[in-house]
This record gives sequence, C-alpha cells and structure tokens, in this order.
Amino acid sequence: MANNFLETPIEYLKGVGPERAKLLKQEFDILSFGDLLRWYPYRYVDRTRFYKTTEISGDLPYVQLRGQILGLKTSGQGKSMRMTAQLVDANGSVELVWFAGLKWLQGKYKPGLEYVVFGKPTVYNGKINIAHPETEEVTEDNLKRASALQPMYSSSERSKMKGLDSKGIMKLQKTLSLMIDKQIEETLPEKTISNLKLLSKEESLRQIHFPSNPQIQQRAEARIKFEEFLHIQLRLLRVKMMRQENVRGWVFDTVGEKFNSFFKDYLPFPLTNAQKRVIKEIRQDMGSGKQMNRLLQGDVGSGKTIVALMCMLLANDNGFQACLMAPTEILAVQHFNSLRELLQDMPVHVGLLTGNTKTKDRRILHEALRAGEMHILIGTHALIEDEVQFKNLGLVVIDEQHRFGVEQRSKLWRKNSNPPHILVMTATPIPRTLAMTLYGDLDSSIIDEMPPGRKQIKTVHYYDSQRLRVFGFMKEQIAAGRQIYVVYPLIDESKTMDYKNLMDGYESISRAFPLPEFKVSIVHGQMKPADKNFEMQRFVKGETNIMVATTVIEVGVNVPNASVMIIESAERFGLSQLHQLRGRVGRGAEQSFCILMTGAKLGKDSKLRMDTMVRTNDGFEIAEVDLKLRGPGDLEGTQQSGLLGLRLADITKDAIILQHARGVAAEILDDDPTLGKSVHAALLQEMKREQKSSVNWGRIS
Ligand code: ADP
Ligand code: MG
Repeated sequence: MANNFLETPIEYLKGVGPERAKLLKQEFDILSFGDLLRWYPYRYVDRTRFYKTTEISGDLPYVQLRGQILGLKTSGQGKSMRMTAQLVDANGSVELVWFAGLKWLQGKYKPGLEYVVFGKPTVYNGKINIAHPETEEVTEDNLKRASALQPMYSSSERSKMKGLDSKGIMKLQKTLSLMIDKQIEETLPEKTISNLKLLSKEESLRQIHFPSNPQIQQRAEARIKFEEFLHIQLRLLRVKMMRQENVRGWVFDTVGEKFNSFFKDYLPFPLTNAQKRVIKEIRQDMGSGKQMNRLLQGDVGSGKTIVALMCMLLANDNGFQACLMAPTEILAVQHFNSLRELLQDMPVHVGLLTGNTKTKDRRILHEALRAGEMHILIGTHALIEDEVQFKNLGLVVIDEQHRFGVEQRSKLWRKNSNPPHILVMTATPIPRTLAMTLYGDLDSSIIDEMPPGRKQIKTVHYYDSQRLRVFGFMKEQIAAGRQIYVVYPLIDESKTMDYKNLMDGYESISRAFPLPEFKVSIVHGQMKPADKNFEMQRFVKGETNIMVATTVIEVGVNVPNASVMIIESAERFGLSQLHQLRGRVGRGAEQSFCILMTGAKLGKDSKLRMDTMVRTNDGFEIAEVDLKLRGPGDLEGTQQSGLLGLRLADITKDAIILQHARGVAAEILDDDPTLGKSVHAALLQEMKREQKSSVNWGRIS
C-alpha cells in the first residue's frame, strides 16, 4: 500500500540517523515520514522581495537585502568579542553583527562581490543591525531559489543545539519532499476533491512546505485544514447517528393538561417568538422516538427558565418525571422558587434536593420520587447520587452546563431503562465554530431575542482613582430605590489576598454607606451556606441596598430591582465571566448600569476586554472576541475536548472551511453511514491512524 511510505521510520531519512531520530521523537513526537510532513511551517518568509537598506526599521520581520559586505572588524574582548560589517547597497548601508563563529568569518566576504543577506533587523543601542544573517553570494541559482516563500518551522532549545533549528528542519523537509513523488495516496474521496477543487494530498504536502507561489500555498493550507475539520465532523456526526439508531427515546406525543393549562392560565407574559420557536423544536425532538440531546443557548436574561419549565410540564403530561440540575445551591434554590412562583397553585409537585437537604426530608423526597408522586425535581449535584431513583425519568435539564463534567452527566443516563431526553442550557453563548466542533453531535436551539421592554445596560469603565465619583453615583441610585451589586474577584478560593481585598472593599463601602441610612450585605464562599442564604435573601427581599460579593452570584441570581453592577478588579475576569456578571442587572424596567473598575495600568488584552464590554451587550459577539483572545484551548469546557488535534486549522479563523467540512461530512455519511464503501477506505484508514493519537469522542452525554 502506497501509504507505507508515510509510515517509514524517520531514521531512514537521509540526514537523520539514530541520534536525531531520538531527538525528533522526544521533542516533537515525530516518528515517521508522515509525522515530519505533518510538521507544518508556522509561517513563511517572503524571499521574493529585496529591501533597500534605507527601508530597514527595527519592527520589520525577516528581510532580504542585496549588496556588498565591507569593513569587517572585530571589537570587544573574550566573551563580549564580536564582529561587525556593513552591508552596502546603492542607497546606503546596514550593520551586520556576529557574536560567534568569528574565525570562520575572516576573509569570507570578498570586496566587489554581491551577496544576498537575510535576517531579522533589531534595534540595539539606538542603532539598527542584523545579527547572524544568512548570507550567500549572488548567483543565478540562488536568485531563482530565493524567489519562493521560505518555510519557518518551530523547534526547541534542545533540537537547535543539535542543528535542528528552523533551517535544519527545513533541510530535512526538502530531502523528504523530493522523495514523495507518486508515493502518497489520496485520502479524500475523488468526488470531494473535484467538487471543491482541492489539491491532491501529495501536492498539498509538497506545497505546504515549499510553495511555488503564495496562491498555491493557500490552496495547500486550505486542503489540509479542510481534511482536519472533515475528520472531526465525520466523527461527531457518526456519534450522533449511532446514538439516534441505537438509543431509543421516550415518545412525548401528548400535549396535555399541565402544559395547556399553564400556557392558558399561568403564563405571566407572552412568550417571545424565539422562546416559542425553541419550545417547538424541543417538542418535535421529544416526540420523534429518538433520544433528544439538545443544546439550548440563550444570552443571560433571554428567558431560558420558562422554556425549561414548559418542557418539563410536557414530560409530566406524557407520564414522566423531569429534573433540573443547577451548578450551585443558590441557583438551585432560586430555580425552585421561581418555578413554584410560576406554577402557583397548579397541581405539580416540585421538590428541591441539595447537599443541605436534611436526612429526614431527603428520605421523604426519595420515596416520592420512587413512587412517581414527585413530578419535577430541582437540585444540584446531589441529584446524581445513586440513592436518588426516579420512577420514570423522562427529561433532564442541565443549567449552565459547562460546570458539569461529562462523567456526572452520563450518570444521569443510568437512572432509567431508556436514557432520558437531555436539554443542556448554557448562558455563555458559544461561538458557532466552537459549537460545531465541540457540540457537533448535539442539536442546537438558540434564543436570539430578548424579552420586550428591556433597556440596554449601560457599561462604563472607570479607573480606581475615580472611585469617589462611583460612590456618588451609587448614592443617587439608592436614593432612587435601586439596589447595587459590588463584585470582587475570587479566582482562587484559597488565596488570602483575594479575601483581604474583598473584606477591605466591604469595610470601605460600609464606611461610605453607613447605617442606619444604608444597609450592606456580604456573601462569599467561606460563609456557612445558611448564612450565605440568609444574606442573599435579605438582598432579594430588598432589605439591603448593596450586595458585596464574590462571583458566587455569577450565575442565575435574579433580583429585578438591582440596577447597578460594579465589578472590582475587572481586569482579572475573563470576558464571558464579565458578561455573565453584567447579566445580573437589567432584569427590571429601570435603566441599568455596569461599572468596570480597574487599576490604571492595563495590558493590551485587558484593555480590549474592557472596550469590548463597553461597546457591546451581545453575548455572541463577546464570545467571539473571547475565543480570539484566549484561543479555544482555554475556553471553559474545551479542555477535555481534544479539539487541539487540529494542527493547521483554527476554529477562530477558519469558519468557512469548517462549514464546508460539516456539509461534506453529512453528505458522505448520507451515502455511506459506516464509511464501509471502497471509495471511503482511505479516508477511514486515515481517520483511524489519527484517532490512535488522540481524543475520546464518545464523551458527550
Ligand atoms: P436566563 O435565560 O438568563 O435563565 P431567565 O429565565 O432567568 O433568563 O429570565 C430572565 C427574566 O426575564 C426573568 O425575570 C423572567 O421572568 C423574564 N422573562 C422571561 N421570558 C420573558 C418574556 N417572554 N417576557 C417578559 N419577561 C420574560
Ligand atoms: Mg438562568
């Protein structure tokens, strides 16, 4: 088989040998010809262009010049010895400098001859020079060769010491790329290649390293990215198909008494069109006979709770129980209260189960669940404990999903003979590309419309020095009857510094807002749950004006009268967290405000985060910026994804290619669900080879 070539051990490559082979393995995990070919350049330097010496500045990347090398001289002693020379062209000159290999330089450059010089200009002591340039006599040949993009490869300190710097790796790539002619089997189906006019595998592997021109480099890159995305999409869609085929879902085909009577008599406001659409999507899913696995995205405040409730009522109408799982106690309690408020006197039995539920109550609850008398159970992680058993659990709603591990979710499955339908709600919008890769096997519903009458939250950024002004503003708001959050970062629960900041802040606020005129609450993670709850409730009831808190209030808390969110040390929060926090206000009819407080010195990224917050309220836009700033690897919930199996493709930049790949993956599986046809043999084999080295794809739900 032709692809044996790619499996050839790397030590068989000329210029490698056992020692370098070991190094390549240790440093870069390169074991075979194929691995080396997949060690793609991270960029190219344009060697088609010759700069004039007068154009050179310190912030240019690598540049290429042409001229005579004159005036070689030594200066300094011992370790600080160095050699300088001038590169002289028709316009002027630039200094070249060497710190090592000085002996070898003597007499190397002949006056009157012209050289090609290549290197990175830097500014040293106010003067521009190029250290350790590559130099070559100008000949027909090297002018021709120089008319190409030169690949740059990442290397390590250790590999550099053994001559495998970027240039050393380039030499190996060159040797290899001269051998690949007719050796590399195509792995994409012919049809895909011709439909999308993609380069062949062989051509793309050649051109990605040594492109003949920038256009073909781009085509090579696109082909490789496409294939990377295609593999991911094929895997995700297969997981989804297999689940749909092998896992039967409960059929909820009745819209019954509970759903209808709630809709008719208890709905406190008309649903938005987005809410209606999403409920319809979920209903269709749950009535299809397949098990639902759906991701429900909606910005903070878009009204996901009522959607969840109506879906749970639907489960009840079909004779099933439902549960709603929240990431924290506070949130679970809040959900419990708001559901009870929404349901009023409807005959729906709702229970609450958290870590703090007393043993006696717990026993009663367990009984009611097993007997099927309890219709809806709200709770925290406590829900997934083994002794919690349902008579017939039909729907699980998971709120703020990213806080739950995969393992925990899968436990819920085992609570019934058939797995329940699963609705995952997230208030942190996920950029489309990320959703498509991470949750590509889930169906997705989006609430893209806010309830009417909401005023845009006004966001401003102040420096700590402007604090007095902020206090003044707070007083005005309190006088107008509003309530205020002041949130402190508590990145690490164990960091005493963070607590000190919080307590200092609390003290200074208590001083500026003294009793009896003002009342200030405080809530943080080191308080006993009962105290926390007590304080929280005081604020919810409007008995205190200001809530000083850590991020425990981040998600879900709903106090419509709170109209100001002040975020201290805002530079220490990530964008999605800032957006979440801001979502705690703007829930009532009043104009709401978010004030971002930071120190005077802000890094570039922090500044961009603040500016983004000030500029927009759109969670999806914010999520996109967040993704770009942090990269996919850092986003919450993505660490476990193994998403980084991607080498060239970048979900923050290659959305269009990803889209194509998704479409093609669906087409391929449509025609050949198991990838068993011979036209797909090479594709399947390539996916298997890749899979050996990464990811557990069965991870979701
Ligand atoms: P989230 O999507 O952040 O969970 P919630 O479900 O908590 O949002 O809803 C936020 C607020 O908006 C709640 O006070 C809720 O009662 C209200 N709300 C939800 N849907 C509507 C609607 N269609 N019209 C008016 N208010 C609504
Ligand atoms: Mg919510």
